[in-house]
Amino acid sequence: MRIRVVDVFFEAAHYTGFSDKYNYLHGHTYRLEVEYKDRLGPLDYLLDFEELNSIVRQIASQWNYKLLVPETDIDKIKITGPFKYATAEAMCMQILSEIREKLGDHNGELSLTIWEGPRYSANCSEHDKK
Ligand SMILES: [Zn+2]
Repeated sequence: MRIRVVDVFFEAAHYTGFSDKYNYLHGHTYRLEVEYKDRLGPLDYLLDFEELNSIVRQIASQWNYKLLVPETDIDKIKITGPFKYATAEAMCMQILSEIREKLGDHNGELSLTIWEGPRYSANCSEHDKK
């Protein structure tokens, strides 16, 4: 007999440490599905669904919004970036500015929307400059 907990999510950034293709820092919305299998006991019961769900969610919450790196790199990590704060809003303004630089003589209005996953976005235009 099997019982299952599904749809436990966490957001994290990582790189693999061994692959040219996936060795660049990137993020995922990880989705967990856990299955517990055992023989049925005399109560026709394996495990409390809520207990298993709670355990999995607690572990996922510890990994949420973390940077996951290979152990070989733990002492080598140097974080750099062009942002005072690395928010979607700041990234939006930076990307918009870089697009503007590459447009040359094209002086039309630009706006940009950057999505953080399927539900959240920041939209900016050059009027939003400080
Ligand atoms: Zn990945």
